[in-house]
Amino acid sequence: MTECIFCRIVSGQIPCAKVYEDEHVLAFLDINPLMPGHTLLIPKKHADTLFDMTSEEVAACGAALQKVATAVFKGTDAEGLNILQNNYEISGQEIFHVHFHLMPRKTGDGFKVPWPAK
Ligand code: IMP
Repeated sequence: MTECIFCRIVSGQIPCAKVYEDEHVLAFLDINPLMPGHTLLIPKKHADTLFDMTSEEVAACGAALQKVATAVFKGTDAEGLNILQNNYEISGQEIFHVHFHLMPRKTGDGFKVPWPAK
C-alpha cells in the first residue's frame, strides 16, 4: 500500500471533498483550510515535486488550474485568488506529492502571502 496520502486520495482509499476531476488531475478542498474555498489541485500521477514532472504533466495541471481557479473564484465570490505551490521543506512543503493551493481572497480575510504585499 502506498504511503503517500494524496495517492491514497486519488485511489479512493481516503475520502476527499472533490471539486474537479479529469484524466490527469484531481482537485479537492484542503482539510485544514486557510480560508473558505481553499482548494488543492494535484496531478493523479505521483511526483514528489514540480521538478519531478514532465512538461506534459505540468501542462495538464496548468490547463486544469485555470478552470478550477475560475470556478473557485466565482463560487466563493472572491475579490482575488492566490495560487501557491511549495517545493521542499524550506518552502513549506509538507506533503511530498505535487499540489497547487488555490486560495480565494477577500478583504479582511487576514491571510498573509509569504512576501511583502499591498
Ligand atoms: P504543503 O504545506 O504545501 O505541503 O500543503 C499541504 C496541504 O495539504 C496542507 O494545507 C494540508 O492542510 C493539506 N492536507 C493534508 N492532508 C490532507 C487531506 O487528507 N485532505 C485534504 N488536504 C490535506
